[in-house]
Amino acid sequence: MIVARDISGKEETVMPYRWSANTVFTRLDFNVEDGWCQTCGCKLTVCDHRHRRLFTLNGPVHVVCKLAHCPQRVCPAHTQTHSPEAETARAMPWWVLGWDVVCWLGHRRFSRHWSVGQIRTELADTYQIVLSDDAIERYIHRYQQMLAARQQDPQRLAAAYADVDAVILAIDGLQPEKGHETLYGVRELEKKRVWFAEALLSSATAEVQQLLARARSWAERLGKPVRLWISEKQEAFVCGIAAEFPGVPHRYCANHFLRDGAKPVLDADSRAKVQMRRKVRGLRTIEREVFAAQRGAAQAALAAAHSEAARPNAVPADEVTQAVELEYCAAIRGILNDDQGGPLHPPGLRMAEALEDVHASLQRNLEAKKGG
Ligand SMILES: [Zn+2]
Repeated sequence: MIVARDISGKEETVMPYRWSANTVFTRLDFNVEDGWCQTCGCKLTVCDHRHRRLFTLNGPVHVVCKLAHCPQRVCPAHTQTHSPEAETARAMPWWVLGWDVVCWLGHRRFSRHWSVGQIRTELADTYQIVLSDDAIERYIHRYQQMLAARQQDPQRLAAAYADVDAVILAIDGLQPEKGHETLYGVRELEKKRVWFAEALLSSATAEVQQLLARARSWAERLGKPVRLWISEKQEAFVCGIAAEFPGVPHRYCANHFLRDGAKPVLDADSRAKVQMRRKVRGLRTIEREVFAAQRGAAQAALAAAHSEAARPNAVPADEVTQAVELEYCAAIRGILNDDQGGPLHPPGLRMAEALEDVHASLQRNLEAKKGG
């Protein structure tokens, strides 16, 4: 059964949609499904009509709901008005969009990651449904609420967890900006489901405790033991979980562990890089010497050409050495400037390995020379 409840207060009583004068509607008539009074057994009679105009993916519809009541004035149920249930199967109260349109835009937004602007133009181009951005945002918000309600439905949850022996729970808080509320989420890791999330103004133990108590009641309702809790090592979590789930192991979350461990690793790596850069110096001097020698050789060659002296065809050994020297310099500069990599692949470690390779290469060359 669908219970319609005004969720965001007066916001729902906005101006009705302004339909253009030439809109062609398909008319749908709905009657109350059970035509008999539940109290006295008398046949209900139509007492009023409710007219609604809705967008559907198949075009605009004009829904006419025939409202009914018990005609017997002496019957206690005489003052009750019955609405056809088929109406809420088309659209919720106050909505101008049918369920099919709401599902369509929610799916495009969250499964396909379309922007509101894309959704707006696609609705207008393909379905001739003209809506403003804020109207679409309001319906996306409603879609989220429906989705959350469905995700938290106890029967669906029980079905999803039918083949699970025990649950593993995790809690974490996300604060978009300092001073803002923190969004706390409780996730279950066996089925990888977000159980529920709530924005808390304070991360005090008492506030967090309420979420943990809710997690406990969820696990109890499912009839599944909690095998493990995973969270950041925060006072409110450590104390709260110990109090609410006595005897359940509580592990420090690997992600937070890595993140906290990463900082000293990267600091040490950065210091090592500074030391290596300090030690491997003089590239510029070597390059300058090579360039000076090259310039000198070029001038000598020019002078030789002028004096018409025979120039040897073979490339002088000096030129080969100079090219190799420049290539070594370029390679080492590349190694020293390489800053990419996180804590799992520290750049300093890679720098050290690469410099050792260069060293070994130079050593091989020197030995080759020694051997003639
Ligand atoms: Zn009656």
